[in-house]
This record gives sequence, C-alpha cells and structure tokens, in this order.
Amino acid sequence: MTFKKPSIGSVVTRANELTEIGAQDALSLSPFSSAARRRVLVLGGASEARALSARIAADPRLSGVVSLAGRTSAPAPYDLPMRVGGFGGAEGLARYLKEERVTHVVDATHPFAARISANARAACAALSVPLLALTRPPWRKAPEDCWIEVADNAAAAFALGPAPRRVFLTTGRQGVADFRAAPQHDYLLRVIEPPNAEELPPRCEVIYGRGPFALEEELALMREKRVDIIVTKNSGGALAYPKIEAARALRLPVVMIARPEPAGVATTHDLDRVMMFLNA
Ligand code: NAP
Repeated sequence: MTFKKPSIGSVVTRANELTEIGAQDALSLSPFSSAARRRVLVLGGASEARALSARIAADPRLSGVVSLAGRTSAPAPYDLPMRVGGFGGAEGLARYLKEERVTHVVDATHPFAARISANARAACAALSVPLLALTRPPWRKAPEDCWIEVADNAAAAFALGPAPRRVFLTTGRQGVADFRAAPQHDYLLRVIEPPNAEELPPRCEVIYGRGPFALEEELALMREKRVDIIVTKNSGGALAYPKIEAARALRLPVVMIARPEPAGVATTHDLDRVMMFLNA
C-alpha cells in the first residue's frame, strides 16, 4: 500500500523525537500506520487532544496523527505522531485528508479556534469524511461570581469601563491589540510565548506561565499585583478554572468572553463517545 506523504519541511514526532521531514523521507514515510483500519486526524490545540491521542494509540484498530498549528515552540509530546503547521485553508486540509486517506477527523482544537474548525467542517463535508468535535463544557457562573459576559475582545475592552483599573488579562497573546482601545488601564498579561511588543497596550506588564495554576498561586498573584478585574475567555475545563475560583474568593469581577458560535458540527465532551464514533 502506498500513501502520499506529509509535505516536505513539516515536522513529525513520535514520543520525544523530533524529525525534520526531508525530500527523501517524504517519499517513503507516512505518519499513519498502514496496519490499522481507521486513519484518524486529530486537530489538536486543547488538552482534550492529548487524552484522545492516548486512547487512539492504545487501540490497534486505529492509526492517528495529531496536528498542531505551531503556536507553541516546544509542545509536550503526544502518544501519536505529530505534524505541525497550517494546511493552507480548507482546500489544503482537504488535500491532506485525501493524500493521507484519512477516514475520520476529530476537532479537538481550543473552543476559540474558530477558523480551523470552520476549515475542518468545509474539508470534511467536501470529501464526506466523518467529523466530530471534542470540546470541554463552558464554565457556568456560580451565584457568588460577578461576571460581565461579553461577545469578544473588543466588547471586553469596552466593558472595563472609563476609570483606570488594574486588569489581569488571561486571553493569551493573540488579540491583545484589541485592548489598545482601552489605554487608560494597567494590564498584567499572562502568556506562554512572547507577544509582539507593538500589539500591547501602553501600560502592560507581561508575565510568562503555562498552566495549570493552583488556586493558591492565582490568589497570591492577584493579591501581589493588586488586580481589580480579570479578563478571560470562557475556555472551560478544570486546568484554567483556579483563576475563576480566585476571583470569586477575592470578590473580583470577571469579564467573561463567550465562545464563538459552534460551526454546526456534531460535538461531544465525552472521550468514550469519540471512541465509539471512531470504531462505529
Ligand atoms: P484559528 O484562528 O482557528 O486558526 C488559524 C489557522 O491556524 C488555521 O486557519 C490553520 O491554518 C492553523 N491551525 C489552527 N489549528 C491548527 C491545527 N490544529 N493544525 C494545523 N493548523 C492549524 O486558531 P487560533 O485561534 O489561531 O489558534 C491556533 C491554535 O492554538 C489552535 O490549534 C488552537 O486549538 C490553539 N489554541 C487557541 C487558543 C485561542 O484562544 N484561540 C487558546 C489555546 C490554544 P491553515 O488555514 O493554513 O490550515
């Protein structure tokens, strides 16, 4: 059996091993195992993709590859081979699915990664490849919480109000430029990778950290930096939840950015359901 290969220059990894795919390798390697019946593309970017990779790797009926956008410079390894970098829009993704003879796609990207999810929907629809989205449930407001719920970053910046505040910005480096529209505030931006300096609001302290963060750490940080309001996306999940609990404990308001509208794709929060979908 022969397969078309990943594009030259893409990176395929297994466990801790990183391999640049050169022209020669590209002619002879596919990250998918030829033995398995089902060939699964996992669009990664959220922690759910890691748990799903472990399940797929342990199932002899399945072969899989995790795809990452490449925003994080040293992603922790997955139990499946990894490819890194964009596909080139919905057409590029469709080409990849065809070339690699992918039979199933699971969209386990972050709930705010709307473009890749839309591309997955378009590419899978064009090729009649079954697609399922695996997401985590959004956070729900507890009675003691003080949330200002908004639709996007621009609305979040506006919701901070006219008076200067100390804002803990936990929305990541993408889209931080939207907060330049509210330059009266002092921002504390927490990121994993360095942001573009020119996108930052004028008074912005950048701190680096990759979650999960414990509740005690979040409380200590918010107290030390004298935070008086938090901005977050409603990412959901347990790993990032301590900041919400810390805000509750300190009685701080939270500007909560709602998820983009789902792309009309079957969605589950349950790994067992994904495995049923892959083995149906
Ligand atoms: P996006 O706007 O939906 O995607 C932008 C482009 O990045 C896509 O068009 C695609 O390029 C490429 N891409 C995204 N995810 C990919 C994947 N899993 N494999 C290959 N290419 C991918 O996404 P984003 O908001 O920039 O986020 C980028 C990645 O970071 C996503 O995988 C997401 O899961 C993760 N992430 C996002 C957030 C967030 O808040 N947005 C938070 C945490 C993690 P092509 O069109 O060239 O294929």
